[in-house]
Amino acid sequence: MPTFKALVVESGDPYTTRLRELSLDELPPGEVLVKVAYSSLNYKDGLAITGAGKVIRSFPLVPGVDFAGVVVESASPDYRPGDEVVLTGWGVGERHWGGLSQMARVKAEWLVPKPQGLSLHQTMGIGTAGFTAMLCVMTLEEHGLRPDGREVLVTGATGGVGSIAVAVLARLGYRVVASTGRLQERPYLESLGATEILERSVLTAPARPLESERFAAAVDTVGGAVLAGVLPRIAYGGSVAACGNAGGARLETTVFPFILRGVSLLGVDSVMCPRERRLRAWERLAHDLPLNLLEASVRTVDLAAVPELAQQILAGQVRGRVVVDLN
Ligand code: NDP
Repeated sequence: MPTFKALVVESGDPYTTRLRELSLDELPPGEVLVKVAYSSLNYKDGLAITGAGKVIRSFPLVPGVDFAGVVVESASPDYRPGDEVVLTGWGVGERHWGGLSQMARVKAEWLVPKPQGLSLHQTMGIGTAGFTAMLCVMTLEEHGLRPDGREVLVTGATGGVGSIAVAVLARLGYRVVASTGRLQERPYLESLGATEILERSVLTAPARPLESERFAAAVDTVGGAVLAGVLPRIAYGGSVAACGNAGGARLETTVFPFILRGVSLLGVDSVMCPRERRLRAWERLAHDLPLNLLEASVRTVDLAAVPELAQQILAGQVRGRVVVDLN
């Protein structure tokens, strides 16, 4: 039987991740068999591959929370061999075998057809991170955000979610302030469309319960002390889309931004996002993300490079997005 390559988290004690040859009969059951063309590296993949976070609880498991590829076999009427498909979330790469593999077998309902106007490579340049960035933008719009000349803040701006959020918001006509701990990345952030760079330490320094009202809204990918520094700076009636915890999970704040300025803290989850919203987010990405900027924030690597990059993404050392080529 022909074999294929996959990254496998083999054991939790000691935590062991290895590049292996698998055969199709080792894949879990599922309706659709996909030849994976690309996967990508997200913060959660870093946690899963290294064991730094309890993302994977049953072993062995193939990590990789997203992939794009071509259907090989399908027991579902919704997909036929040759169809190009994309998957993000649904616990794939956490509870179910994921995308850091040349082959994947999954439930049909987890897949979406490849969005028109994007290549398979571009869909994984976007990946879970970019998809989440768009969900953040849509959430802020649903709470009334419109380009009116006021500034919108993006934290963790050089990361995957942050980079795509900056590029989309700038394209939509917002004045984007990019918060980063990496000031040397100013040219990169400006190339994505940021009009101003804010040093991360400004947000993490002790803040008053209410600072001056600066931002109409924010996309926060960092959480912790950074989010605590964002809330007192949101203008009256503004909102924050919170999707990440790269800087910490605890939030120490006061109720004053909420009860005196009507600020809204809006949670964003991509994993269980309903199908209709997924399709809308992908359509919006194909339309509102300048593809030349996407290319500028993407690096493509092979599977063997992933374990090292997994360490780097947790250390905040990866810029933009990493696509994993499984062809
Ligand atoms: P990245 O590592 O690419 O980006 C995170 C960025 O946060 C870094 O680039 C860095 O930006 C900043 N950062 C990293 N470490 C720290 C730190 N210790 N303190 C402060 N800032 C830090 O990750 P992703 O973009 O893939 O994911 C970002 C976050 O969003 C993660 O927490 C991830 O789990 C979450 N996420 C949530 C999803 C959801 O469904 N809710 C889906 C996808 C991601 P800089 O150097 O510019 O400051």
